Amino acid sequence: MKALDQLHFDTRFARLGDTFSVEVLPDPIDEPRLVVASPSAMALLDLDLSEAEQPLFAELFSGHKLWEGAEPRAMVYSGHQFGGYTPRLGDGRGLLLGEVINEAGEHWDLHLKGAGQTPFSRMGDGRAVLRSSIREFLGSEALHALGIPSSRALCVIGSSTVVWRERQERAAMLVRLAQSHVRFGHFEYFYYIKQPEQAQQLLDYVLEHHYPDCREAEAPYLAMFRSIVERNAELIARWQAYGFCHGVMNTDNMSILGITFDFGPYAFLDDFDANFICNHSDDRGRYSYSNQVPVAHWNLSALAQALTPFIAVDDLKAALELFLPLYQAHYLDLMRRRLGVTTAEDDDLALVEQLLQCMQRGAVDYTLFFRHLGEQPLDAALQVVRDDFIDLAAFDQWSERYRARCAREPNNAQGRRERMHAVNPLYILRNYLAQQAIEAAEAGDYSKVRELHQVLSRPFEEQPGMQAYAERPPEWGKHLEISCSS
Ligand code: AMP
Ligand code: MG
Repeated sequence: MKALDQLHFDTRFARLGDTFSVEVLPDPIDEPRLVVASPSAMALLDLDLSEAEQPLFAELFSGHKLWEGAEPRAMVYSGHQFGGYTPRLGDGRGLLLGEVINEAGEHWDLHLKGAGQTPFSRMGDGRAVLRSSIREFLGSEALHALGIPSSRALCVIGSSTVVWRERQERAAMLVRLAQSHVRFGHFEYFYYIKQPEQAQQLLDYVLEHHYPDCREAEAPYLAMFRSIVERNAELIARWQAYGFCHGVMNTDNMSILGITFDFGPYAFLDDFDANFICNHSDDRGRYSYSNQVPVAHWNLSALAQALTPFIAVDDLKAALELFLPLYQAHYLDLMRRRLGVTTAEDDDLALVEQLLQCMQRGAVDYTLFFRHLGEQPLDAALQVVRDDFIDLAAFDQWSERYRARCAREPNNAQGRRERMHAVNPLYILRNYLAQQAIEAAEAGDYSKVRELHQVLSRPFEEQPGMQAYAERPPEWGKHLEISCSS
């Protein structure tokens, strides 16, 4: 374990030069205080959780102090936002402080979100509010605990600094960790401003540091693009299987590592609804739950376009064609697990789809359904979940089919409950739970955020005294609209 002031920094991205990022110092927020820190994210930096309680911690992560080796930079990128190209975005309120090298030799970007204005702030104030910082913190750590690749969150630091959104709020800073902050939009930027040399420099950088295995391939850039397609196919399969809605799948919010990244108005499904739109500003539902699959493919095509100077178009097209079949294979695999089946049959996808149709009609809670289905014996479990459906005849038809499917499993009953509970969370980050924790935090009580974070860090394990977090959402809590303004 290390002390806070002993972090060892590298500045690989900064060394790419001023075409890629510019030096900006953080603009501190007043009276910084720790809202919440993640022990498992702290461990990535070899820091013990107790370090977070030191005054130095809040000072460092609120822009008041800097490490000697750190070199804060704002990155430039562009991207397609809701389908339209914006030629220049960049870090308008976040700074890459540097890359911490941990004892395992990994590089972790320290990104301070809400650190003040930069040359890329456009009309924005460079700040992040407490509410959105807590949401990103809880979301990142909850995704990670579910086994869904995501950027991580080290901590949230609150302050007394006033910022204006629809109302007066307080500024906060979130410390985001990721092994890279390079987005699809980085490549789009250099493609559209016609700077192929810089694009290639970045391509080589990502290849060397993040896809080193691809360097051995006959065509390294193509191999890397294929890996990016593969990772995204797997990522989106996980989102869909667990009901995660990102909310703003613009290409500037897509990580080159294939991890969940820059999610603002995200949500996990409460009731199953294939058409669910979590982002209040997404009028047409471009980023609805079920559209995430075609949108991810579209985003990969946008990245492919930006790589046309380096990879033959036919090769890019062939790689893009891998997306859907790979997605489907991963998704089906995950859904089989969620249903507790260990073998593969041709009709399994149809079994899943029939179930989802029943759930859609009955507005059935997506998380609790699978959790309850894992109880033993199967007949009793089916009886319990049945109560939630509206079209009982349709559900009974499905459950007959499912029962028969389970009967064809080798050692069906054995270990079924453990197997299913290990993949079907009891606790999920529901919007209303986040909302309650945020309201308490805004009133100065951080205990609810901390408790919710703790519960969600072990989502598959029943935790004594935490039943309230496993309940169905109240009606008022089901359709909270989350806006982009953060
Ligand atoms: P986002 O919707 O958070 O992915 O942000 C889209 C773009 O707007 C990025 O370039 C951000 O850096 C920028 N941005 C968002 N909020 C602010 C803000 N409060 N001040 C400055 N720039 C911002
Ligand atoms: Mg963004």
